[in-house]
Amino acid sequence: MATAVAPKSSSLPQIRQTECFIGGRWTPSSSGKTFDTYNPATEEVIAQVADGQADDIDAAVRAARKQFDGGEWSKMDARDRGKLLYKLADLIEAEIDELAALETLNNGKPIRDSRAADLPLTIDCLRYYAGYADKIHGQTIPVRGNYFTYTRREPVGVVGQIIPWNFPMLMVAWKWGPALAAGCTIVMKPAEQTPLTCLRMARLAQKAGIPDGVINVVPGFGPTAGAPLVKHPGVDKIAFTGSTEVGRIIMRDAAQTMKRVTLELGGKSPNIVFDDADLDAAVAGAHFGLYFNQGQCCCAGSRLFVHDKLHDRFVDKIVSLNKTRKLGNPLDPATEQGPQVNKEQFDKILGYIESGKKEGASLLSGGNRFGTRGFFIEPTLFTGVQDEMTIAREEIFGPVMSILKFKDLDEIAARANNTTYGLAAAVWTRDIAKAHALAAKLRAGTVWINCYDVFDAAAPFGGFKMSGLGRELGEAALASYTEHKTVTVAL
Ligand code: ADP
Repeated sequence: MATAVAPKSSSLPQIRQTECFIGGRWTPSSSGKTFDTYNPATEEVIAQVADGQADDIDAAVRAARKQFDGGEWSKMDARDRGKLLYKLADLIEAEIDELAALETLNNGKPIRDSRAADLPLTIDCLRYYAGYADKIHGQTIPVRGNYFTYTRREPVGVVGQIIPWNFPMLMVAWKWGPALAAGCTIVMKPAEQTPLTCLRMARLAQKAGIPDGVINVVPGFGPTAGAPLVKHPGVDKIAFTGSTEVGRIIMRDAAQTMKRVTLELGGKSPNIVFDDADLDAAVAGAHFGLYFNQGQCCCAGSRLFVHDKLHDRFVDKIVSLNKTRKLGNPLDPATEQGPQVNKEQFDKILGYIESGKKEGASLLSGGNRFGTRGFFIEPTLFTGVQDEMTIAREEIFGPVMSILKFKDLDEIAARANNTTYGLAAAVWTRDIAKAHALAAKLRAGTVWINCYDVFDAAAPFGGFKMSGLGRELGEAALASYTEHKTVTVAL
């Protein structure tokens, strides 16, 4: 493995936006406060960002309301809204290398991932929804009597969007795409760990010609900027991605004003490998499905059930992949694994590794900090994991794989479903009937068969049970940004 070294300052992208973006203007926080944002690979402060407070949220909501309740945006032809979204996607594409580097600088994810995954998926998502802007329409409905009834689909209003740090730009696209296509206006609060690319996207949105006040961004912390947004009476809907714990608080805080709420929350996704699977494909898919993004994925395949007959060969292959995995400076294109996002996550993950050891799982690889600087953790593998162990029940959000053994089809569906979460699942087998039968039984919003982490802007994503409410992406997300209005005319 490579050593963790600080990126050369000459190769660092420029940080241009650090203030609140409200009504098209860049403004410091009303309190004058700022917070530090870091490069997790070096633990160095890279910028001070405006620490938005309730007053800033209020100003942003007023700007968004003004556009929604009668501003230029509310009168704009849907086709023109679509054009602006296409333009935004084009501007991001024109700066793809710099944006990928900025994402990597602030989040720590390897540049090869931000360049090959985050950025292209962001652009694709915005274009997907751009095409939808003029295709949102209602129905005509035959009713009893001499009436003509039709429905209109109208934008839900001002939406508050609160996003996490693990895919900062992509989460912006997942939220802005359907909201703007539907004709909503936005107040977004990016995660306090990774505000920089969201702020840069706000600048590009302005450059694309999206009218001032349609998109407002208030960086800040959950309790001081997120909570006032959720409680604000001028906001019609909250779209949140983050932990189940905070999702619960958001549902509670939104209840007072009866806001529409969509929540994309945590997971503990089962990844099930049968003995008739293509072994190499399953190993590669399971490795990617867990270690991708330093394990910081809500849908990480963190309960890896491997059939007894295949188990030992499977484990050997994972161990050898872990041995050659390249950790280091995430701005180096050869790097495969970067640091965790911050000290808090780093400590939490090391705590879970300790609990795995204490509760009797076998540590076959990793388990330690990597290097002496930056929040790097070695790719870690536990075998002999039992269903009731902490590492098999709680979301770790780090590069820690847990392998559990199973023997037959009848036991596996019940074990896989024995969790409060229901975000994703995967099945690896050459028996297509078995795969579909199990896909139907698994209580999860997404089931991948012989693949993992395959995302597309058109394919809905979200959770059963405590993994959330509603769906991101596809037509499903668009629906959650519209209200249905029924109009009946006496003939
Ligand atoms: P993670 O555990 O992945 O950091 P969190 O759920 O804590 O995820 O945070 C996700 C987002 O929710 C962040 O933008 C954070 O600031 C925000 N947040 C945290 N607490 C609250 C809260 N009480 N109300 C609204 N937003 C919050």
